[in-house]
Formats: sequence, structure tokens, C-alpha cells
Amino acid sequence: MSRVLIIGAGGVGSVVAQKCAASPEVFSEIMLASRTKSKCDAIAALIKDRNIQTAQVDADSVPELVALFNEFKPELVINVALPYQDLTIMDACLETGVNYLDTANYEPKDEAKFEYSWQWAYQDKFKEKGLTAILGCGFDPGVTSIYTAYAAKHHFDEIHYLDIVDCNAGDHGKAFATNFNPEINIREVIQKGRYWENGQWVETEPHEIKQALNYPNIGPKNSYVIYHEELESLVKNFPTLKRARFWMTFGDEYLTHLRVIQNIGMASIEPIMYKGVEIVPLQFLKETLPKPEELADGYTGETSIGCRIKGIKDGKEKTYYVWNNCKHQDAFDDVSSQGVSYTTGVPAMLGAMMFLTGKWKKPGVYNVEEFNPDPFMELIGQYGLPWQEEINGDLEMKY
Ligand code: NDP
Repeated sequence: MSRVLIIGAGGVGSVVAQKCAASPEVFSEIMLASRTKSKCDAIAALIKDRNIQTAQVDADSVPELVALFNEFKPELVINVALPYQDLTIMDACLETGVNYLDTANYEPKDEAKFEYSWQWAYQDKFKEKGLTAILGCGFDPGVTSIYTAYAAKHHFDEIHYLDIVDCNAGDHGKAFATNFNPEINIREVIQKGRYWENGQWVETEPHEIKQALNYPNIGPKNSYVIYHEELESLVKNFPTLKRARFWMTFGDEYLTHLRVIQNIGMASIEPIMYKGVEIVPLQFLKETLPKPEELADGYTGETSIGCRIKGIKDGKEKTYYVWNNCKHQDAFDDVSSQGVSYTTGVPAMLGAMMFLTGKWKKPGVYNVEEFNPDPFMELIGQYGLPWQEEINGDLEMKY
């Protein structure tokens, strides 16, 4: 029996709220708070059989958060607002004695920089207060990190090569749209590529490394090495890794739009003056693009995200591939959402459940791979994201 506060009422927040509501034995009281209360109310209205409280909060403001936490007294906050709010929410958690979970690492608004240093710096403070902070509990980061921990625990003596492969073979029918918050998404995919090899980071030009990879039930899709935040914690937590990379599929149409957006300066996060008002081009662009939740109805196709791992077991080379495929239509049938919001929201709910049922409780700040993967892997299928595995298959990673 626990009280949980969800912050953020976008595509992911909607999935988290509905999935938490479906498990009243764990989530006995739920509040959904966000910048725009009407969005929280619209989500609460989808949940017919439970009473979800809603509230307005500016999560950039620690005093506002503290007042809300003191009023609702949650045991855990699930942060599915934007990465900009991670630190203010963590500060409010420390001030009020509340545990914390998120799905994306902190980013300063004025700098597209992806690293855990800011949040890892809270380790001692959370420890001293006896509070748990669970970082990166969506799909990637999140399930991919848990897959890696599970593989290391059950299939290998040492893992050496990790390739996280993220394919969205879906069609939402729009010329250009992003599957999660457009501002955060575009900041992420236009940066330089980076991967870990032989104890150091190797930088590439954006989308420089490309390979057509085969995805189960989908077939070959052009996949590109990009930097993704879980690489940082995984190479730290699995020091036997000789190489760790992250691959994401992009369609030609998407990449063409992205190139144009960059070329005309609309991906810039430098403020400019427009008719006497300061605006950030990327934030303006975000307002013109479809919202992630608007893609849900009629979205066809599926995602396939997994980990392809090579290492040593009992002195012999072994390969292991673990993945989930999620059909956008199935996500829609379950909670009126599209697959990317769904594959993020379900693990966030389950991570919260892991904490509230005492399986992932340890004071301090931890990335998900630092917890026992087994109880999570046992349950994730029944909540909508079943996984499959292949042992000693061809991982087809050419580079
Ligand atoms: P959306 O843009 O759909 O939703 C974000 C929500 O946060 C909106 O409701 C927004 O309010 C709210 N919000 C923004 N700023 C504030 C603020 N200052 N105070 C209170 N609320 C605020 O994004 P998504 O749902 O697609 O993504 C949510 C999070 O999930 C992001 O951090 C994203 O990076 C992460 N994510 C993680 C993935 C993973 O696999 N790990 C994959 C996909 C997403 P308003 O409605 O008023 O704009």
C-alpha cells in the first residue's frame, strides 16, 4: 500500500498513470501532477475505475514541488516530465524525504550534454537520508540496462561486446514527427556519435557509422551508431566491456527532414530575438510538431529493441541476444498510447513497483543495472513487454 506521485502528463506520463492504476494492490493512492493540469485531468478521465488525484506544478520550482510533496506525502515520485527537471525534483525529494525514479538523465536547458555526473553527485545525500533514487528506468535507458545485467548474471562470466539495437519500424503517417518529446529527441539525435572501445570514448560524426541490421519479425533496417546515455553507466558498471555501442534506426525521410531543420537553424538552442521576444528556435519548432500522444491512433508497425552481447562463458565464446518487440497497435489497445511511450512507461511503472515492494530498495543513487534484474525480468512480460532470447546466434555486427 503506497502513495505515488507521477510528474509529467505527456505520452509517457499517460502510460505510467494508467499502468499504476491497474495495480491497486501496490499503488494504493496515485497523484498525477504536471505543468498543465487539464492534461492530467484528461488522463485521469481515461482511468474509469480509480480515482486519480491531479495537480498543477512547475517542476522547475523546488518550493512548489516541496509544497506539493508535503501535501500529498508520496513514498515515491516517478519523474516523467523532461530531463531539465531531474535535479529540482531530486532536491525536493531530499527536502521532504521522498524516493525518486526517472527515465532520462539530467540535461541543462542551454546545453545538449548527456551525462550522469550531475545526478551521481547526489549519491551521498540520498544515502544519508536513507532514500533511494533509481535512474533511467524507461526502455533505453532502462530495460536495455536490465537486459545487460541479466545477461551478465546468467549467461556470461565476462561480457566483452555490447550492441544495443533500437528499431522503430512503425508508420504514424506523418511526414515528420518524433516519438517522444520533440525538443529532447532532436537534441539527442543530432549530436556527434560516440561509443566505448578499449577503455575510451571514440567520437564519430553524426550518423557516420551505418549498417543494415536484421530485426526479428521486421527484417533489415538501416541502423546508425549514436551516443545514448546508458552507455556511460554500463561501461562503468560492467568494466569487462571492451566495446559498447548504441544503434538506432532512422528512415531516409526522417534524416532528410532533420538535415533541413539543422541547415535552416531550427535545431538551434541558442536564443534569438523575434519581434522583441526571446525565443529558442528548437522550442518554437517543438510547438509546431505533433505531440507524441497524438501519434497513437492508427500507428502501425512495431518496435524492436534489444541487446546483442558477446563474451566468455566457461572459457568459450558465447553470443546472446535478448529483445522485445512491441506493436504500436497493441500499445494503443492497452492504454491508447503509441509504442514508444508504452515501452518507456511500462518499465517506469514496474521499476516503481520493484521499489515499493522492497525488491529495489537501497539508499543512494543507482542506475537500474545496479539492482537485481531477476524480479523485473520475471514480471515485465505480464505487464505488456515480453522478451525473447537467442543463444549463440549470429549477431551480424560488422564494424
Ligand atoms: P512529453 O513532451 O509528451 O511530456 C512531457 C510532460 O512534462 C508534459 O506533460 C509537460 O507539460 C511536462 N512538463 C514539462 N516541463 C514541466 C515543468 N517545468 N513542470 C511540470 N511539468 C512539466 O514527453 P514524453 O512523455 O514523450 O517524455 C517524457 C520523458 O520520458 C522525457 O524525459 C523523455 O526524455 C523520457 N523518455 C525516456 C525514454 C526511455 O526509454 N528511457 C524514451 C522516451 C522518453 P506540458 O504538457 O505543459 O508541456
